[in-house]
Amino acid sequence: MSKVIAVNSGSSSLKFQVFDMPSETVLTSGQAERIGQEMGAFTIKVNGEKKTQELPIADHQVAVDLMLKELVENNIVASLDEIKGAGHRIVQGGSYFSGSVEVNEDVVNKVEELSDLAPLHNPAHLVCYRALCKALPNIKHVFVFDTAFHQTMTEESYLFPVPYEWYENYKVRSYGAHGTSHWYVNRRTAEILNKNVEEMNMITCHLGNGASITAIRNGKVINTSMGLTPLGGIMMGTRCGDIDPTVVFYMEEKLHATPEDMDNYLNKKSGMLGVSGISSDCRDIEAAYNKGDERAVRTMNLYINRIVNVVGGYFAQLGHVDAIAFTAGIGENDSLVREKVCQGLEECMGLSVDYEANRNCHGEELVISKKDSKVDVVVCPTNEELVIARDTVRILGL
Ligand code: ADP
Repeated sequence: MSKVIAVNSGSSSLKFQVFDMPSETVLTSGQAERIGQEMGAFTIKVNGEKKTQELPIADHQVAVDLMLKELVENNIVASLDEIKGAGHRIVQGGSYFSGSVEVNEDVVNKVEELSDLAPLHNPAHLVCYRALCKALPNIKHVFVFDTAFHQTMTEESYLFPVPYEWYENYKVRSYGAHGTSHWYVNRRTAEILNKNVEEMNMITCHLGNGASITAIRNGKVINTSMGLTPLGGIMMGTRCGDIDPTVVFYMEEKLHATPEDMDNYLNKKSGMLGVSGISSDCRDIEAAYNKGDERAVRTMNLYINRIVNVVGGYFAQLGHVDAIAFTAGIGENDSLVREKVCQGLEECMGLSVDYEANRNCHGEELVISKKDSKVDVVVCPTNEELVIARDTVRILGL
């Protein structure tokens, strides 16, 4: 039996789970939220009960130190020596990695080199990795890449219509993201429906603070919405997703802005936050939406429209779709978003959804479509940490 820690650091969060393997028993789970904001929160589950403290968490280094301190203080481990391996979610693996790997210097250098392509994520992953190496000097680490599952895309899906030399010389192409989540949700949704994943077409909607949608044929990705970086694809919490590139040059001139300023606008001040002026958090948008706030209504409508357009496009590319799955913070919990997306797709895809069941579904596995629906619609909470723990044990031979 080995204790393994799975670390999933998002742009503003650090989620962790400690597993007893191979039994896959979760010894604890928790998260640091709103990292870098004025007030953050740290939660850890102890004996099934959530303990939350509100405190500022300046950066990912502070979050890792807090996590390790809490693991010992709450007797999840008697000492940190009990942890035998660590698996890390890495957002950008470029074309270097089509699967998980044991970490060595070369792997770290490649992840660092790819930071340009995931500026909110890869540096944060390496901070977490280094902080854990320092605290746990005797263990080995595995990196699990968000891009790996998407490596089966063919060039008509991953190329951009720009000079081909940009791809040849600078590797400019779509890499996708959230691959571990799409992989898990694809497999798990097939299990929930009692179908063979290799004989079904699925569209998985990972709707979190970052968000992406993936078209999967017979268990293999054929298209995904995120592009060269996690800035592409659908609208997100603070990121714009796909826009006419002219917007960038035009506004750069109008605002006398630098490329760095524009990067900041599009990564951190756009999406739900930018359109609503309220918040990047969908819960805040929804609260304002329910009061009829004009900007919140506009934001919600724009968000739904972007999702419907992508899912509809993938429906056409796949030819037929057996299931649509919703996952991640918004996909799992936000019944209003699911309802509006399904309504938008109802006619074209022949969906028939039990909206009552949908409204009562918050964070649990559930088929929300009716029997007569042409496509099954499933809420499937993601479990990237479990995939990370399994890969860690497999690759390190624990
Ligand atoms: P990331 O991992 O990209 O930081 P998450 O998958 O944790 O993001 O999703 C965060 C998003 O999920 C936020 O926009 C938040 O509003 C939304 N969310 C979380 N819980 C709920 C809920 N109960 N209802 C509606 N939205 C929720």
